Amino acid sequence: MIRRNTECRFVAQLLAWHSSDAHRRDVFWWRGVEDPYVLFVVEVLLARTRAERVSEVARELVQRWPEFCSLARADEAELEQMLRPLGFQRVRASALKRAAEEVCTRWGGNLPLEEEKIASLPRSGRYVANAVLIYSTCARKVAVDVNVARVVSRVFGFILVNGKDREENLWALAQRLVECTSGCEVRSLNWALLDVGREICHPTKPRCPLCPVREICHFARFIRI
Ligand code: SF4
Repeated sequence: MIRRNTECRFVAQLLAWHSSDAHRRDVFWWRGVEDPYVLFVVEVLLARTRAERVSEVARELVQRWPEFCSLARADEAELEQMLRPLGFQRVRASALKRAAEEVCTRWGGNLPLEEEKIASLPRSGRYVANAVLIYSTCARKVAVDVNVARVVSRVFGFILVNGKDREENLWALAQRLVECTSGCEVRSLNWALLDVGREICHPTKPRCPLCPVREICHFARFIRI
């Protein structure tokens, strides 16, 4: 019960911080988007790439090819050229085009809103699938990337060793946080986790005095300070 209370306090503090700063909802243009196609493209491009770098390229891409079937017909060389500023453009272009072809031929261009089907597409996976579902439909899920994993690990005192069990435990704990939200708060929870990880809880120099969850963070209370 104590653990549960801590989890819900953590969520409440994150949501309060997020809602007190209106720009957070607009910091990236796709935060106002519910189109699964756009969200899929953005989330695939965000893998191992800073959001600031992805922003303009992703906008240009979805304007040039506004749905899965048009992307499926794209000239791959042109797509590669557009993705060049992000690096790995050949791999990314090929994967995006193959994913679009699959959605277009198997599902008539409509991405099925099912985790397993989205996760099975090229360069997708559980993170991309959950992110698409959360931001398009307020699905009661979490998307745990390296930044979110770091925040959750530090706050709840996970031992920082890699391994399949640790990853699964982290996902399970993060999923329990969703139960402390209602309705579409799940979107804000995921954005807040991302923003704390990206802006405050840096890998080597976490800015704990600025952090909205410092009072309950295991790392800040027992390790760093
Ligand atoms: S208090 Fe410090 S270690 Fe804990 S989540 Fe915030 S920035 Fe990270």
